[in-house]
Amino acid sequence: MSDGRYSRQERFRPIGQKGQSKLAGSHVLIIGAGALGTSSSEQLVRAGVGKLTIVDRDYVELSNLQRQQLYTEADAAAHLPKAEAAKRRLSSINSTVSIEGVIADVQREELLRLADGVDLMMDGTDNFETRMLMNDVAQKYNIPYIYGGCVGGNGLVFSILPEKTPCLGCLLERVPLGGATCDTVGVISPAVQMVTALQVAEALKILTGDFARVNPALMTFDLWNNDRTSIKVSNARRKDCPSCGDSPVYPYLEEVNATKFAVLCGRDTVQIRPSGTMKRDFAELKRRLPSEKVKENPFLLSYDHGKHHRMVFFRDGRVLIHGTKDVIDAKKLYYEIVGG
Ligand SMILES: [Zn+2]
Repeated sequence: MSDGRYSRQERFRPIGQKGQSKLAGSHVLIIGAGALGTSSSEQLVRAGVGKLTIVDRDYVELSNLQRQQLYTEADAAAHLPKAEAAKRRLSSINSTVSIEGVIADVQREELLRLADGVDLMMDGTDNFETRMLMNDVAQKYNIPYIYGGCVGGNGLVFSILPEKTPCLGCLLERVPLGGATCDTVGVISPAVQMVTALQVAEALKILTGDFARVNPALMTFDLWNNDRTSIKVSNARRKDCPSCGDSPVYPYLEEVNATKFAVLCGRDTVQIRPSGTMKRDFAELKRRLPSEKVKENPFLLSYDHGKHHRMVFFRDGRVLIHGTKDVIDAKKLYYEIVGG
């Protein structure tokens, strides 16, 4: 620390050199490398956390660049997976941080493995299924989890401290957190930055051990209509909550084993996730597909089917089918191309 890299942060009294060395010894897991994940990861890597794992299932597209700050036009042109592009950029910002980029759609098994030994989980996802999974892992393994959500010019942040605060499940009973999605109303970049500024401030408090300063309220804002509120939720914790109550069962950690089809937010895309673990054999796929319609990089294989559909195969077995919001349509196409 003698090179002065963190001198401004160390001069900030609540952190100091002691807090800085705590940061250096910490491991943060960020689920999602979209708008929120790219912004919070950059701040945490610049702040000098010891280790950062960032996980994402998607690849970079031009429409991401308006708000996903780690990515470039070259990343979009190369269809680079976000986890890989983020890792490269973050490593060039601070080579002293150990950075892991994981290309995966986070489900139960992945999250249990990824969360092992981390000090904090940050929300960079766009769906409540993953958030509820993170919420259960946070409760079961006593890992702080900072929820963040952003849509339009609005945002929400809440720090979940197991055994101290209500969990996300408790909050959902009280406050409407969902509603509009990026599909219908879009999002502006300053709203993203505001959410991650609040999230990362909370993260720095937690990682340096200043729990007394962690905001117990749900923070919300509307940048366009000049509104900012703090909602007191400390009494929202329920004794009968299945995740954080007196006899928790962690419902989102229950095992489910089936090929899953999901429509992705605002993307005109269906994601298919085969059950169990598998490795997609690109060589075998290429034998079956017309070569002039196939493009490949080390991480994914993309195939244009007819005029309207593009299928993107990942090595972990996942497939994205662009050009449809219809699960039945996607299913038919998937089994036609991949076989039973
Ligand atoms: Zn709860």
